[in-house]
Amino acid sequence: MALIVQKFGGTSVGDPEKIKNVAKRVLKKKNEGNQMVVVLSAMSGETNRLTEFALAMQDMPDLREMDVLLSSGEQVTISLFAMAVKALGDDCISFLGDQVKIETDNSYTKARIEGIDSDRITKELDSGKVVVVAGFQGVTETGDITTLGRGGSDTTAVALAAALEADACEIFTDVEGVYTTDPNICDNAIKIDRITYDEMLELASLGAKVLDIRSVTFAKQYNVPVHVRSTFTETEGTWVVAEEKAMEGKIVSGVTYNKNEARITISGVPDQPGIASKIFTPISNADIIVDMIIQNQDTGNGETDMTFTVARTDYQRTLQLLESVVKQTGAKGGIHGSDSITKISIVGVGMRNHSGIASTMFSVLSNEGINISMISTSEIKVSCIIEERYTELAVRALHDAFELGKESVPEEETLS
Ligand code: ADP
Ligand code: ASP
Ligand code: MG
Repeated sequence: MALIVQKFGGTSVGDPEKIKNVAKRVLKKKNEGNQMVVVLSAMSGETNRLTEFALAMQDMPDLREMDVLLSSGEQVTISLFAMAVKALGDDCISFLGDQVKIETDNSYTKARIEGIDSDRITKELDSGKVVVVAGFQGVTETGDITTLGRGGSDTTAVALAAALEADACEIFTDVEGVYTTDPNICDNAIKIDRITYDEMLELASLGAKVLDIRSVTFAKQYNVPVHVRSTFTETEGTWVVAEEKAMEGKIVSGVTYNKNEARITISGVPDQPGIASKIFTPISNADIIVDMIIQNQDTGNGETDMTFTVARTDYQRTLQLLESVVKQTGAKGGIHGSDSITKISIVGVGMRNHSGIASTMFSVLSNEGINISMISTSEIKVSCIIEERYTELAVRALHDAFELGKESVPEEETLS
């Protein structure tokens, strides 16, 4: 008997009819002789709706209360799912994060899982029940409710699969797998059959929201093979696995975009030792994650500019924090920034052994008249910050330039 963890995203459980269909799909798998643990997201749009409510109460909602609020979305779907299973004549029990002790740190709204006590789940599985667990939530040592950050139900699923030593972890979503780029904005994107944990980590960290990045970190750490597939078809999806030799072939395997960042510049800061620490220590103390950082060279007058990106949701808070830093450092140019930027990236393990990839990317963007405001590279990726309004244009142009799309059949061939 195999133990299978199946996670269904928001669109898969978007209304009561869809929840009933998911229950049928899960029971089909159970009736093939498997033990089933199911992780659900909130109904699609629900987490956004709750966030709007919070913003109507406070400009910067209290983070602890935000988590009490946001975790309610998943409570709705798991209870309805358990009822749907019972209506189909089988048995099911639902659990919130704290009931199965998904213990996290206390970074509200972006908590990290530190441990799971799987005893209760195992007991219920052994008694023949389907177990359904609320995704995206956990509990601190002191009993406070936390959430794991947007898209966090994927992480709940993979962490549970690791803790239960499950035989498979399937992530069901509204597309048929991981594609060379977002199939919803590029018609000729191709589904990738197998992708390495490392490539998937880069794709996820750079905006391919089909898998939450921390779910891939868990999968890699505990060697959990993850199958990303569609809720609405039976088609085989994408396997996310450890590196296999044959995978080195492709230079660029995907194009991603991330519209969730904001860019901030502090201008005219004195170019002296300790300045970076003065700027970034208060930011990290506030638990704000900084992504790209560029420090310009001293322009000759003993001053420099520091530009960096943070999550768009942290933009206002970071600007506020920096007001006192500007006073303290005497930054003459003040702070400015934009929250309508996109980070566009190309990713591929094959890049390790090839040169000229970054310059091709820059030429493609320049041919489209798109200005690059920041660049960062790693062994297997190149990222550029551009204006948000050029996102779709840039994705399609790069996808074509690196020949990632379906090959179109030349007209002559079709005619002959
Ligand atoms: P769920 O609610 O099931 O968790 P998400 O909306 O979080 O689903 O993730 C699925 C979405 O990810 C797709 O609808 C697609 O628009 C987007 N996406 C972005 N990049 C990719 C990619 N490279 N491959 C597949 N989907 C992608
Ligand atoms: N409901 C949460 C969100 O919308 C978690 C998830 O769906 O994974 O981000
Ligand atoms: Mg998701």
